[in-house]
Amino acid sequence: MILYNTLGGEKQEFIPHEEGKVRMYTCGPTVYHYAHIGNLRTYIMEDVLEKYLRYAGYDVLRVMNITDVGHLSSDADTGEDKMLAGAKREHKSVLEIADFYTKAFFSDAGKLNIKTPDVVEPATHCIPEFIEMVQTLIDKGYAYIAGGNVYFDTAKLDNYYVFGNMNEEELQVGVREDVGEDENKRNKTDFVLWFTKSKFDDQELKWESPWGYGYPGWHIECSAISIKHAGEYLDIHCGGIDNAFPHHTNEIAQSEAYLGHKWCSYWFHVLHLLDKRGKMSKSKGGFLTVSLLEEKGYNPLAYRFFCLQSHYRKPLVFSFENLDNCVQAYNKLVARIANLKADGEPDLEAAKPYQDSFKEALDNDLNTSLAVTALYDVLKGDISDATKRYLIADFDRVLSLGLIEAAGKKPDATASDVDVAKIEELIAKRTQARADKDWATADAIRDELKAMHIVIKDSKDGVSWEVEQ
Ligand code: AMP
Ligand code: ZN
Repeated sequence: MILYNTLGGEKQEFIPHEEGKVRMYTCGPTVYHYAHIGNLRTYIMEDVLEKYLRYAGYDVLRVMNITDVGHLSSDADTGEDKMLAGAKREHKSVLEIADFYTKAFFSDAGKLNIKTPDVVEPATHCIPEFIEMVQTLIDKGYAYIAGGNVYFDTAKLDNYYVFGNMNEEELQVGVREDVGEDENKRNKTDFVLWFTKSKFDDQELKWESPWGYGYPGWHIECSAISIKHAGEYLDIHCGGIDNAFPHHTNEIAQSEAYLGHKWCSYWFHVLHLLDKRGKMSKSKGGFLTVSLLEEKGYNPLAYRFFCLQSHYRKPLVFSFENLDNCVQAYNKLVARIANLKADGEPDLEAAKPYQDSFKEALDNDLNTSLAVTALYDVLKGDISDATKRYLIADFDRVLSLGLIEAAGKKPDATASDVDVAKIEELIAKRTQARADKDWATADAIRDELKAMHIVIKDSKDGVSWEVEQ
């Protein structure tokens, strides 16, 4: 498999540290609010990467943290600790907020068919590991104490800016706006490993440490949790592109200083989901969530389909118009699958070339839109229905669009539950298409209705419909 590696800034052949095994780490959510669909774009693409590696035969271990304690990397960080601000907003404790939004995250992820990583570790469960790592960094001369806090000394490194290929603008993305100077720092790029004195002294969660009662900086959690569960050699570290600097840069600095050798080989970064205002972000507010999409009547898997149709290394602009197109395409796809005959044995020999082109697409830096094209090629192919069904189920191990399930689903809705206005509208459009002798559109609408489990009957008195039993 060829993957683009932010470390090196080029496509490289993927070779894991240990043959046949992949150790993967993912920066988890900061649980002070719902995840927005931008965050979830990143998790969807990481999910496809994980599932493709498994599909390709690797034994994968995937670890993810939950950021449930402070999200500060320096005392000069702006204004608020996000967890604390979330707790105040909802008149709850920080742990209650963390618990609520962690559950909400996994519920949303589940609706998007995102697999839960093998290990999920909240930062608050790993305080002894953070302390041990910070102590080692002090002992090795990579960290210093100033003004009550422990800082990482970036001047001790030969090459701090490891992602040298990132431009100024990209480097700025992860740096919070209006960050003031922290006078304790020896170098501008130094960052806090452990706080005891901070202007955010009203922290709810604090722990005893050799440097006083306090709490960890933000970056240390990912290094410590990754090393704890995935060991000293990590194959792939994932996250959104905003995490590359300073978060991942600082993770590399402290992990390699601690371990004394190279830590992670491949850095996989997903570009942002944008809306009209630019990058979708929790702190800007007004963002879209899975629940909001559902309230508007969208199947969350149509959003997954939307994400898969563009490359993870390109920014993706969200609009409801584009999502509507995906809904139609998704429903048509399901309808076509529903029309395949269910009996018979697949022809595995005939299936092979289709599997090869599916793999070829994903082997080339996870080209998901080409993988979706490979799926359409199966439906168009000159192979039996049983072979088509077999291939679609096979590809869906990676794409996770729930295609076979959706196609086979018997309706649990009664006529009063279904969207009558939408059905009538589609039927009217189909009637018009038939009048215009536009048979392709008429058939596509019939398929779309079938995917909604609506069966239509044409008679001399007009068109009637019923929910499929
Ligand atoms: P957070 O919960 O803010 O820590 O972010 C969780 C993940 O979402 C991280 O990997 C971020 O880099 C990523 N992320 C944040 N905003 C966006 C966005 N607009 N599009 C894609 N990924 C994002
Ligand atoms: Zn992280």
